[in-house]
Amino acid sequence: AKIEGRNSYRFFTEEMQQQSMRTLELSNALHHAIQNNELHLVYQPQISANSSTIIGAEALLRWNHPIFGNVSPSEFIAIAEDNGLILQIGEWVLRNAIAQTKLWIDKGLPPIIMAINLSAVQFRDTALPELIASILQEIQLPPEYLEIELTERAAMHDPEKAIVTMNKLHNQGIRMSIDDFGTGYSSLSYLKKFNIYKLKIDQSFIRDINTDAEDKAIVGAIIDMAKGLDLLTIAEGVETVSQLKFLKNQGCDEIQGYLFSKPLIPSEFESFVAERFNG
Ligand code: C2E
Ligand code: CA
Ligand code: CA
Ligand code: CA
Repeated sequence: AKIEGRNSYRFFTEEMQQQSMRTLELSNALHHAIQNNELHLVYQPQISANSSTIIGAEALLRWNHPIFGNVSPSEFIAIAEDNGLILQIGEWVLRNAIAQTKLWIDKGLPPIIMAINLSAVQFRDTALPELIASILQEIQLPPEYLEIELTERAAMHDPEKAIVTMNKLHNQGIRMSIDDFGTGYSSLSYLKKFNIYKLKIDQSFIRDINTDAEDKAIVGAIIDMAKGLDLLTIAEGVETVSQLKFLKNQGCDEIQGYLFSKPLIPSEFESFVAERFNG
């Protein structure tokens, strides 16, 4: 048993070493990702539950590295938060998603709201509201086309400070939504004070919504509460018609997920919009 213990210990540390080696290599590679044009954005449609029209899109970051291939944002965003690159990468995301939105308006596409994910680190940066204002000014996009998605966890990290930043963004005409809602232990009293307009119901509650009585109850309660607080709701990770039916019955406002579309590159997004609006 002793030897077995030693072996499994050694195996464990080797695996850990390999993992931290990968993290280190990714961290180094990330420093050149912007200059080397390895980053791009994909856009996932957000659909009205009732009319099936496109209301918005969520910009999702992709990193394609020549050796590591496609690295998941769940992995490299965390690394960028640790090594400090997140501010630079986050600014790149803001600038590119805002420029894409402007391009689509200029091309005559029906107006949509562009939802951009913000890291907690970006949200804590006191220069954030001015940064967003200057990018909007530079690209000449009116603020009402922009939505900032902040995770519930990030908002609740320092809720009093979050309120101040949310108020600043709101005063600039920018919409804010709470992402991954239901997983971040919001105190409901804060929800009332947050200057937000939409809750994104986390996909972990949507997955088994047709079979799991608890998930049904949670999602129903979130939608009812949101209505009481005059907030919109969007369900993410919707993959099946039966999930859609349940959500529509509950009064969920918007739907995002593979049922309608996976995240798309700009040309695919344009085709998706064209097909929907031409009937
Ligand atoms: P998130 O913001 O919760 O994004 C939703 C994730 O669910 C995305 O994964 C999306 O591709 C995926 N998804 C969409 N529809 C479905 C569906 O029907 N079924 C399933 N199973 N999944 C679906 P993705 O693109 O891999 O992004 C993962 C996370 O990385 C995001 O979670 C977000 O936290 C982070 N992220 C992505 N882009 C950015 C960014 O530009 N900035 C920041 N700070 N974080 C980002
Ligand atoms: Ca999101
Ligand atoms: Ca989410
Ligand atoms: Ca359960």
